[in-house]
Amino acid sequence: MRMILFGPPGAGKGTQAARLLERHPEIAHLSTGDMLRAAVAEGTALGKQADAFMKAGDLVPDELVVGLVMERLQKPDCQDGFMLDGFPRTVPQAAALDKALDAAGIALDHVVVIEVPDELIVDRITGRRMDPETGAIYHMKFDPPPAEVLDRVIQRKDDTAEAVTSRLAKYHSETTPVLPLYQDKGIVRLIDGVGPPHEVALRIETAL
Ligand code: AMP
Repeated sequence: MRMILFGPPGAGKGTQAARLLERHPEIAHLSTGDMLRAAVAEGTALGKQADAFMKAGDLVPDELVVGLVMERLQKPDCQDGFMLDGFPRTVPQAAALDKALDAAGIALDHVVVIEVPDELIVDRITGRRMDPETGAIYHMKFDPPPAEVLDRVIQRKDDTAEAVTSRLAKYHSETTPVLPLYQDKGIVRLIDGVGPPHEVALRIETAL
């Protein structure tokens, strides 16, 4: 299965990606956000270039992200399928992906769009915390971390109210224009992302 997980920041892409991987362990998970955060943490040349964009809630320039994804898609673990999470986020990124997949004779099966209204996003994102040891994602109100994890959970630098506004604006101006490209191919699956994660997961599995 080759798919894209699409949706605004805070839609639950990371949470749903983890659930999808439990059911489809053969596919590789390519989260550009995770890859970029790793590059920043390691202090690589790419990480140094990406850091300021990410902190401000801006998109990292296409050429940096496209290079990262294209390199990753060549790895053997992508042979049996992949889930792109957070990519493509601009029309030029989608065009680059299309070209690369066409050249490799590969077709996408699904573009899963997790839809959540803007007014729910700010609450979801500012309450989000991550366990750095397990990667598990929590929400201080909706899904609080267990007591033994509470002391070590961290908040992403771009999960502030200011950065969220910018990230949402970018989603509407830069990312949603990508969707018509996939609608034309008949592979877009619109999913209602409001509700408990297990219900959203069920909706996704049914759509697939
Ligand atoms: P995410 O974890 O998907 O919310 O991504 C976090 C941040 O990483 C975004 O706000 C961007 O700054 C950057 N980023 C992730 N994926 C992309 C992408 N495909 N294109 C440009 N910037 C990206």
